[in-house]
Amino acid sequence: MTLRELKAGQSCRVVSVGGEGALRQHFLDMGIIPGAEITIVKFAPMGDPVEVRIHGYELSLRLDDAEKITITESAVKAEDTAKTEDTAKEKRKDKANVAHPNLGEPGVHHDKKTENPLPDDHVLSFALVGNQNSGKTTLFNRLTGSNQHVGNFPGVTVDRKDGAIIGNPKTVITDLPGIYSMSPYSKEEIVSRDFVLDNKPDAIINIVDSTNIERNLYLTMQLLETDRPVVVALNMMDELTGNGGSVDINLMEQILGVPVVPISAAKNQGIDELITHALHIAKYCEKPLEQDFCAPDSPIHSSIHAVEHLIEEKAKNTGLPLRFAACKALEGDELILNQLGLDENEQGLLEHIRVKVEKKSGLDPAAAVADMRFTYIMQLVGQCVTKPVQNRERERSEKVDRILTGKFTAIPIFILIMGLVFFLTFNVIGAFLQWLLELGIEELTAVTEQALTNAHVNDVIHSLIIDGIFEGVGSVLSFLPIVVVMFFFLSLLEDSGYIARIAFFMDKILRKIGLSGRSIVPLLIGFGCTVPAVMSTRTLPSDRDRKMTILLTPFMSCTAKLPIYAFFVSSFFPGKGGLIMIGLYVLSIIIGILIAFIYKKVLFKGEAAPFVMELPNYRLPSLRSTVQLMWEKAKDFLQKAFSVILVATVVVWALQSFDTRFNLVEDSSQSIMALISGFISPVMKPLGLGDWRITTSLISGFMAKESVVSVLEVLFGAEGGISAVLGTVEAATLLIFSLLYTPCVAAIASVKRELGWKWSVAVVAWQCILAWIVSFLFRIIVLACTGGFV
Ligand code: GDP
Ligand code: MG
Repeated sequence: MTLRELKAGQSCRVVSVGGEGALRQHFLDMGIIPGAEITIVKFAPMGDPVEVRIHGYELSLRLDDAEKITITESAVKAEDTAKTEDTAKEKRKDKANVAHPNLGEPGVHHDKKTENPLPDDHVLSFALVGNQNSGKTTLFNRLTGSNQHVGNFPGVTVDRKDGAIIGNPKTVITDLPGIYSMSPYSKEEIVSRDFVLDNKPDAIINIVDSTNIERNLYLTMQLLETDRPVVVALNMMDELTGNGGSVDINLMEQILGVPVVPISAAKNQGIDELITHALHIAKYCEKPLEQDFCAPDSPIHSSIHAVEHLIEEKAKNTGLPLRFAACKALEGDELILNQLGLDENEQGLLEHIRVKVEKKSGLDPAAAVADMRFTYIMQLVGQCVTKPVQNRERERSEKVDRILTGKFTAIPIFILIMGLVFFLTFNVIGAFLQWLLELGIEELTAVTEQALTNAHVNDVIHSLIIDGIFEGVGSVLSFLPIVVVMFFFLSLLEDSGYIARIAFFMDKILRKIGLSGRSIVPLLIGFGCTVPAVMSTRTLPSDRDRKMTILLTPFMSCTAKLPIYAFFVSSFFPGKGGLIMIGLYVLSIIIGILIAFIYKKVLFKGEAAPFVMELPNYRLPSLRSTVQLMWEKAKDFLQKAFSVILVATVVVWALQSFDTRFNLVEDSSQSIMALISGFISPVMKPLGLGDWRITTSLISGFMAKESVVSVLEVLFGAEGGISAVLGTVEAATLLIFSLLYTPCVAAIASVKRELGWKWSVAVVAWQCILAWIVSFLFRIIVLACTGGFV
């Protein structure tokens, strides 16, 4: 029978794990291995996915994936587990009796006589590696203070944060994406793995969540195999000890063969000691003492050694750590196998070893390796960790989850929370800050204008500064408060663990259009503003989902388009405002869904990212990290405002201000813009929007959607001049066109940052074309239905 058939509350043991390739490896890495005990916690409100507990942590799994896991239903006996722990203690006793070698403490861990410390002027490089939600961001901020810079890893748009450790300017620590395993499952994992293997940092700081230690140590095992100096930072110790748990740190150090430092990143405990150890192991290149994690009599033990023997030469030539490469080769990791470049003979031998493992252990090699690691971890935890009798955070989380992911409450509460976030961002806090900023910009503009006039500056420069730069950049800058406030709330939702829950219960719906649950958040933010929406896709774990989500967000009608709708409603459809607005929003959602289907069929073939996701306990977010994130996003946005947007503003200003002989024009109908609009107008004619003034307003809407209305007002005069040019059908067509055509330059700049130039140009072109087609269809259908021209 399969896991899918179990009911909430039932437990079982895993017999075998199906699936293939990266997905299967991911199952194994997440701890779903033959013999593991799984309990069904609950089903999502819509029946899919399902939350399960395994090795003491919660995972969310899709039912389709659950179906690939065969189980025995027989209830798990508590004695079984106890017995394995006892034998573990027995086995490790001999090691526990060895005198404590003071691992990691200065001068003891390495041989003093042959020591060869790195020179003093060497910049020590560190990689900060750990699971998601293990407190990486919090620790990174503690270690670096404010001297950090954010960028991208070369070639991929995955956040890279670097910084020097406080008080140690000759260090650089890199915050790697949160990962669960060194298997190439997502782009993030590849980035982290490549960084460790290729950049060879002087030391790895491995952050481990002590309240979820089995899951976290799985990554530690693999890091130790990479043969880099490692220090384990055992985080969340405040929570563990608060619940009555404890860790025998000395014993754990001794077994793992690397320094282990208990810390609490949130409470700022143990950070100094961590820094001392990290600097020490890096400087003296103190590599892990232990890499052999298999029971000596197990079939996997001899196999790994056999593979090590086989690939020794090749691993040396390619610079891969031997033990790591051997395990990966046994697992069947394509990337490592390609890198090793085994000849036919060697491949045959490897296959032979793999078959032997399967025969002897009854597990395929990938499962056998995962099993080896988890068995070792269980023994280690059995020896060193006293689990808390009670887990208050877990209990609290379960209580909160009864409401937040409850069958009938999940979605209403989600709507309520998002509604509140929107209300506060766009109506209260964000709006207030925006008003304040606009006031400031106006003031500054006035002062500058006065100064320019007094100084008798040339008209062109005057106009460039005031009408071009101040006006354009100013209007885009006014987005800043919204972006910052939005990210404040998002960061609260993310760090508290709620976003993972949203993904959990929205997955079923999103999956229908080829995305996974997490994409709902950026899409919703898109209804507020495309800029933070695109920026927020960074947290999506799969590259494919991220791209597709970015391309879909502009279809969500943003708030900056509201003035356009309001303007036309009051001029053409008085009293029908509500109906028209609802119609437009429904249309934007329908088109978004249709487009998603097209993207799924054409651009992003294949399945949405597999969805084996951890559901962490709810935690109080740290204010420090939140503020840091807001600052980062603000900086990011400002950089954009003063590069892409500045250029675009100046270009649009020039087009509006000069005629073809580059004389400053008095009347905008003489400008180059009017000329261009004249060229474009015929294209708009089939839509009934052939007037050059309308085209001009739409072009200026590229700067900011709000300016469509202000340009229309200027060009047509306030007194209903526009009604003379447009009928109601045309007005409706124009509404549809503005709903769908290119997003504003700030949004495009965000798309450019995430996906590059080509995609951002494609977005502009494609949305204009699509807007045209839909508007055209709308017009001819309405005209046909109403029997001609109304
Ligand atoms: P990341 O996903 O690994 O970057 O983890 P974060 O740094 O975002 O932390 C996840 C959550 O755990 C946040 O709500 C933090 O405030 C919280 N957290 C981090 N370190 C500690 C700690 O030492 N103790 C406790 N109680 N909470 C922590
Ligand atoms: Mg984080």
